[in-house]
Amino acid sequence: MKAVVLGSGSGGNATYVEAGGVRLLIDAGFACRTLEQRLAAVGASPDGLDGILVTHEHTDHMKGLANFVKRHPTAVFVTEGTAAVCEHLMRRAKETVPDFAVFQPRVPFALGDLTITPIPISHDVAEPVGYTLADGAEKLGYFTDLGIVTAEILAAFAGCTDLILESNHDPETLRRSGRPWSLITRISGESGHLSNEQACQAVAAACPPELRSVTLAHLSEECNDPELACRLMTATLQHIGRGDVTLRCAAQNASCPVCGCC
Ligand SMILES: [Zn+2]
Ligand SMILES: [Zn+2]
Repeated sequence: MKAVVLGSGSGGNATYVEAGGVRLLIDAGFACRTLEQRLAAVGASPDGLDGILVTHEHTDHMKGLANFVKRHPTAVFVTEGTAAVCEHLMRRAKETVPDFAVFQPRVPFALGDLTITPIPISHDVAEPVGYTLADGAEKLGYFTDLGIVTAEILAAFAGCTDLILESNHDPETLRRSGRPWSLITRISGESGHLSNEQACQAVAAACPPELRSVTLAHLSEECNDPELACRLMTATLQHIGRGDVTLRCAAQNASCPVCGCC
């Protein structure tokens, strides 16, 4: 399995995966040209993808979706709720609406030899999901944009060799950010984003023995500090006796290799 976060944060999210004989994207939250450039930078063609897995309809996850699929036709996998809102937003923007391949949350489906399991997450949109992708040898977990870590998500960590996990904000920096109170409560609420501490608690609660890497994702540029997020997760991994796990931090404007890249 090869996985690379092409960029992650409120300015856009996309991750490229090659596994089980298929090539796909998770989210397409950058402009089409940016997606093409970032794929090229990791030696991947934008053509011939086997699909795009969409987590939810926020702009930072589907900004380039319609244009990318128009230029590079591929299947778009979404929940029914996400499909409905995406279609509405695309029509309003006068974009070409792709044919959506609709799946049911919790029901695994196969792409090539890859088993994809969509897991419901708590976020303030129609029907959002995280994913696990398993090829028989390795298993990638992808969980960003969630306000709380549910027992179902912790259960999905089982068997994961690599985890891409949101570590969005430092609660104190968020509280002092000068942002409107409504936005602060939205971000820190149960349908918002995971704090550094929540990400650490999740890993401590359900770190699978197979885990070899954690990639922190969707860090807030204003309300977090990559060094702080990494320091907290490093301390957590050491505390649970898993100092062997490789820790990475995805960035907004640079690719971050997760696995299988060297
Ligand atoms: Zn997001
Ligand atoms: Zn979101």
